[in-house]
Amino acid sequence: MSTQVTTRDIATACRVSRRTAQRWAQQGKLSAIKQHGRWVITVPAALDTYKPAQLDKAAELIRDGGLLPTALVGRYTAVSSDGTVTYLVTVDTCTCQAGQHGRRCYHQAAVAATEAARTAAHRRWHAA
Ligand SMILES: [Zn+2]
Repeated sequence: MSTQVTTRDIATACRVSRRTAQRWAQQGKLSAIKQHGRWVITVPAALDTYKPAQLDKAAELIRDGGLLPTALVGRYTAVSSDGTVTYLVTVDTCTCQAGQHGRRCYHQAAVAATEAARTAAHRRWHAA
């Protein structure tokens, strides 16, 4: 399964400017196509374990800038929907209530999509 992300997601995931991410798309360093004037990048991601509603919330979290990379690769902080709590998230773990109970949460889905974007950009970069 694959998922679609934007240059902004790539920029967040790779800690580069949005302009750099757009340049990567233009140069073919990302598997990107232009749709309605914006780049849509397809990345392979294992997101089929998540419910569609979780994927929607994950996309919203990324779009709102609520998911931020930490100094450690693969670790992110996510802001709760009411903005009062910050969780520490990886692909497999999350400090939110669902995550503490071993359940998949949309924070993890957001990290999975972002990490897939980062890996895809990285791989393309080195293959070029
Ligand atoms: Zn969570």
